[in-house]
Amino acid sequence: MSYTYDDQNIFAKILRGEIPSTKVYESAHSLAFEDISQQAPVHTLVIPKGAYVCYDHFALEASDAEIVDFTRAIGEVCKIKGVQPSDGDGFRMISNAGQNGVQEVPHLHVHILGGRPLGRMLA
Ligand code: IMP
Repeated sequence: MSYTYDDQNIFAKILRGEIPSTKVYESAHSLAFEDISQQAPVHTLVIPKGAYVCYDHFALEASDAEIVDFTRAIGEVCKIKGVQPSDGDGFRMISNAGQNGVQEVPHLHVHILGGRPLGRMLA
């Protein structure tokens, strides 16, 4: 099965500049912006600029350059937001995928959460 990307999803609109976002970081292949519904003092979303529905789609079909850029973007956001365990109090990264993962927006995004104890969570 292959993925069909809906280019009317809200993050595609953010990437095209059709709706505003609060930008945290941008690179050649990635964009990070604040989640509109903050669940913690730090709640930033990191997305690839390419049309990928979810993480496995990206991991299997993105170029090496995109994958490296996205991985680095996540690191840069942690640094910018001061949640690196080396300097701050740490963070959690989450990427929901599909129906069971309760993914609302069908464009790959990683949530970076921090700024408070997040509790133990696997499900
Ligand atoms: P998901 O459940 O992992 O797909 O989460 C989607 C996230 O996108 C939620 O945390 C929403 O609050 C967030 N979100 C939805 N619309 C916007 C927007 O326009 N700007 C920023 N974040 C958004």
